[in-house]
Formats: sequence, structure tokens, C-alpha cells
Amino acid sequence: MLFNLFVLLGTLVAMEGVGTLAHKYVMHGWGWWLHRSHHEPRLGTLETNDLYLLALALFATALVALGRAGHAPLQWVGAGVAGYGLLYVLAHDGLFHRHWPRQPRFMHGYLRRLYRAHRLHHAVKGRKHSVSFGFFYAPPFEVLKRQLRERRRG
Ligand SMILES: [Zn+2]
Ligand SMILES: [Zn+2]
Repeated sequence: MLFNLFVLLGTLVAMEGVGTLAHKYVMHGWGWWLHRSHHEPRLGTLETNDLYLLALALFATALVALGRAGHAPLQWVGAGVAGYGLLYVLAHDGLFHRHWPRQPRFMHGYLRRLYRAHRLHHAVKGRKHSVSFGFFYAPPFEVLKRQLRERRRG
């Protein structure tokens, strides 16, 4: 049981690394055509960018199915992937983009740091020169501002 919990938590942490890299090199790379909708003014409740979330959900489901078919502990890896997706929706869609019914007013410390970093990510409209690709880890605000200035210049 403890081992399974360890696998689940480890997957959650690892997913932030995977998510950051995927956002930087896939979503802002060859997968930009899908992510682009997220960097433009929103038209409806759904955007093509949400297909990434759907892909993540399918991947998590497949892992859980494999685990339950005898390939333990893949079901716990799947649970970690699903958990990361859920946290992503809560933090990114809810907190960063304020898609909650009530706007949260408790932005302090860690959450405020994440929120401001993601604002800076959206300060760049196009595919290139963006900063801060993570969702649950953000470098200090001043560092990101400096990066943004340098990337815009260079
Ligand atoms: Zn982006
Ligand atoms: Zn965003």
C-alpha cells in the first residue's frame, strides 16, 4: 500500500516535469496549432487546446486498464497522471484563468507566485519568446521578467 502511494505521488511530481517539457517543446512546437487557441481571446467554453487534456485522460485510463489487467503498479501511475490532470484543471483553468463560478481572492505566497508567472506566460501572444512553461513550479517573478525582456529583444 505504501509502495502504491509512493508510485502515485512520484508520478504526480514527475508529471510536472513532463508537463513543463510538453508545454515548451510540443505545445509551443509542432503542437502549436492545437495550443494556439489558448493564447488567443476565448470564444466558447471549450478550445482546441482542451484536446491535450483529453489525450491525458485517455492515457491515464489506458494505464489504469493495463494495471488492472495484471501489470501492476501501472494503475497507480495512471492514477497519478489523472490526479495531475485534475490539479491542472483546478489550478490552470480555475485559478489562473478564473473559470470558477466565484473568483478566488486568496492569492498569497505560492499560489500568487504561480498565478503571476502564468500571466507572464500569456504576456506573449505568439508561439515564440514565452516564459514559464510549468504549472506547479514557477521561478521567481523577477527572473521571469528578465527572461521575458531578453527573449523579446533577442
Ligand atoms: Zn502556452
Ligand atoms: Zn493558460
